[in-house]
Amino acid sequence: MKDLMEKYTRAFSVSGREASLAAQIAEDLRPFADSVSTDAMGNLIVLKKGKDGGKKLMLAAHMDEIGFIATFIEDSGYIRVSNIGGINAVASAYHKVVFENGTTGVLVVESGTAFGDVAVKKMYVDIGARSKKEAERKVKVGDCLAVAPELTKLGASRYAAKAFDDRLACALLAEVARTCAEPACDTYFVFTVQEEVGCRGSKPAAYAIAPDYAIAVDVTNTGDMIGAPPMTVKLGGGAAIKIKDASVLCSKVIVDGLTALAEADKIPYQYEILVAGGTDTSSMQTAGAGAHAGAVSIPTRYVHSPVEVVDAKDLDACVKLLRAAVERGINAEK
Ligand SMILES: [Zn+2]
Repeated sequence: MKDLMEKYTRAFSVSGREASLAAQIAEDLRPFADSVSTDAMGNLIVLKKGKDGGKKLMLAAHMDEIGFIATFIEDSGYIRVSNIGGINAVASAYHKVVFENGTTGVLVVESGTAFGDVAVKKMYVDIGARSKKEAERKVKVGDCLAVAPELTKLGASRYAAKAFDDRLACALLAEVARTCAEPACDTYFVFTVQEEVGCRGSKPAAYAIAPDYAIAVDVTNTGDMIGAPPMTVKLGGGAAIKIKDASVLCSKVIVDGLTALAEADKIPYQYEILVAGGTDTSSMQTAGAGAHAGAVSIPTRYVHSPVEVVDAKDLDACVKLLRAAVERGINAEK
């Protein structure tokens, strides 16, 4: 699991540019799958057939991360950018960045900008070029980039990295796919594209699969940061079973089913009600004729910053809960 976590967080996969990560995950999971395919949007679909083959379960983790796109190259060689997804400009400023082709730079803010005025339109990338001509040899308008800090161990069981949202969930799903016994139903491990720009990938994938049950795996905020709004989810409190976020009311079948599995297996869990933000849960719930949809969330501090922080104990709980759901099914309906 740690190997996948390190490999996937390091990968370049800004929204709309997920192909190399998809190829990596496909290679990792092919030995464990009945089939591996990619659709027109770039969603990676890994199928493990179930015992009875009747019902279908779709698990979704998004491969994309928030980032930037080069919009204009100044005569000086500095590169202007626009955001892709919900960028926190303050959190992204003065970090090392990397373009898809490997070019590195630093993302900085126009001189004299007051802290409160920091915004993407006042930011630019310095790749060390001395002119527009020199910059254009490395970067073209339309090239994407992302912040690039390394994964860091914090204390006994915690980690900080960029893009735990949602590479950690990709690692979790991959871990479940490679370690689970024969699934109860046909199980589609789907690694989706373009979640950060409006859950655009999961919808067509869910339409094509037409699952009976759909579970998104994503990060959620915690209430245990200084200044955080009141929220019961905390780091180290176990797998978070989503009840609601700003985009979805989770199906009771999924909430009750996951709770029953966690109780039966003594897996630490907590309930999540997220006031703002959404995930692939909502798009899967309403795609096609609709599905029973819910989510297992990874408690995460400082979401959408280059130093998202998670606890390994929560990851372990999430893997166990998802594996139980795959192997035994979501049975609350019966
Ligand atoms: Zn996410």
